[in-house]
Amino acid sequence: MKIEIKFMTRRTLALMITSKGKVLVKAPKNTPEKYIISFVESKSSWIQKKIANFSQSQESLINLELENLDIVKQKKIAKNLVSEKIEYWSQKMQLDYKNVRLSSARTRWGSCTHENTISINWRLSLLPLELLDYVIIHELAHIKEKNHSSKFWNIVDKYCADFKILRKRLKSFGQILQVI
Ligand SMILES: [Zn+2]
Repeated sequence: MKIEIKFMTRRTLALMITSKGKVLVKAPKNTPEKYIISFVESKSSWIQKKIANFSQSQESLINLELENLDIVKQKKIAKNLVSEKIEYWSQKMQLDYKNVRLSSARTRWGSCTHENTISINWRLSLLPLELLDYVIIHELAHIKEKNHSSKFWNIVDKYCADFKILRKRLKSFGQILQVI
């Protein structure tokens, strides 16, 4: 197994698999190599699973060229993109949200509160745009249905017929929430 280690200004260790099947560890500066190796070893079954999945998937983190990402700039791009898209879809679906905010959540791409405040993860702005459309349509549909019932999916389906495929693609990008 080939392991590449990048020392950077960060607080935690992060593990990712590149499209070439290499294991990349992002580590805080001055982390002892021994510690990194035992960390990688403790994740070996996860790594093997990911390598298998990644070789099947054409989309991987490496294609996104995240190394030189300017997060402040990207969040501004995300903010504009999200407000433009949510305006468009809210009119088209005729569903009014109370508020929209940009989120940095580590576990979800979007959410909709009981008061209809919608949060959209800024990291979506790094992915193919149809995924952002899907998440916005999904969260707007929650204004009407606060659950994932068949009624809910019928609303989504009406505006996003590919939602099943898009959901799967979005899942394949889940790692982004952890590493950026
Ligand atoms: Zn939902």
